[in-house]
Amino acid sequence: MAVLPLVGGCMCGQLRYSVSAPPIMIYNCHCTNCQKISGAAFNTSVIIPEAALTFTASKPASVEWISDQGTTRCGLFCGACGSRIVNGGKPSTGVFSLRAGTLDDTRWVQPVGDTFTRSAQPWVRFIEGGLRAERAAIDYAPFVAAYRAQGRF
Ligand SMILES: [Zn+2]
Ligand SMILES: [Zn+2]
Repeated sequence: MAVLPLVGGCMCGQLRYSVSAPPIMIYNCHCTNCQKISGAAFNTSVIIPEAALTFTASKPASVEWISDQGTTRCGLFCGACGSRIVNGGKPSTGVFSLRAGTLDDTRWVQPVGDTFTRSAQPWVRFIEGGLRAERAAIDYAPFVAAYRAQGRF
């Protein structure tokens, strides 16, 4: 079980946040953007309502870029240490992709599947019995349903 609000922050501790609503879904994303941003094989994306996120200490710096799919994306990060906290759409899509590793407590985090498997590192193991999408999922409803079924909140 997880408790609201979810709290977390950047590596250096200056930028802190609070999330007041339960996540919508959680999955591992193997897209090349996530690989570059994290410097790792994939990112564990905790999808949250944009309105649920509040920065409680310091203010984030921001960056914009064009995604693999040609849409404008924005990222919020700590200007002091560079830790990325969330990515979102510009204009807003109503949700943020929160980077799971920034949460203080990650014990409850269980991704329901993998997206952008076509660009996954060949040695990565996908979530066993999980959902899979070669690129972005065409329909995220099964991801949402699988996440709800975990009953974390
Ligand atoms: Zn920082
Ligand atoms: Zn990604």
